[in-house]
Amino acid sequence: MRYNKIRKMDISNGPGVRVSIFMQGCSFNCKNCFNPETHDFNGGKEFTDETIEKVLDLCDKDYVVGLSILGGEAMHKKNIDGTTRLAKAFKERYKDKTIWIWTGFLYEDIKDYEVFKYIDVLVDGQFKEELSNPMLRFKGSSNQRVIDVQKTRKQNKIILEEGEEVHA
Ligand code: SF4
Repeated sequence: MRYNKIRKMDISNGPGVRVSIFMQGCSFNCKNCFNPETHDFNGGKEFTDETIEKVLDLCDKDYVVGLSILGGEAMHKKNIDGTTRLAKAFKERYKDKTIWIWTGFLYEDIKDYEVFKYIDVLVDGQFKEELSNPMLRFKGSSNQRVIDVQKTRKQNKIILEEGEEVHA
């Protein structure tokens, strides 16, 4: 699998100062996607064990509160193995820091993936231009959901992050 880029200090994808990684490859093709250069599965750079180590080392700084995984499509079958290995290694090293992942899939369709053991928040659903709103926090369009993954798993129903709403 491949990734597009890593940001060492990101304050626009999730709460606080975070490290973010953008995976490479997405087949959803949402109209006016914010990140079209990540669509080609052959673009970007190779994602290796060294990439995981590099991301984990960047997360070591005290001011970094967590890791954000975006795309591209981190949950695509071509990318899910690397996404899972990264998330697992992160949680083993940083129990008190959070992982947020953005995906075009709906949680209900991928909820059996191992990766959900390790992540705190999932922002799900494809970007819909007709529902886009620049005032929304953490998401581009109002149909997308900012889901508290561990509460959702425990209660077996979708639990949104505090203060979040959905308008589809
Ligand atoms: S799922 Fe995300 S990366 Fe893929 S086309 Fe839609 S907005 Fe772009």
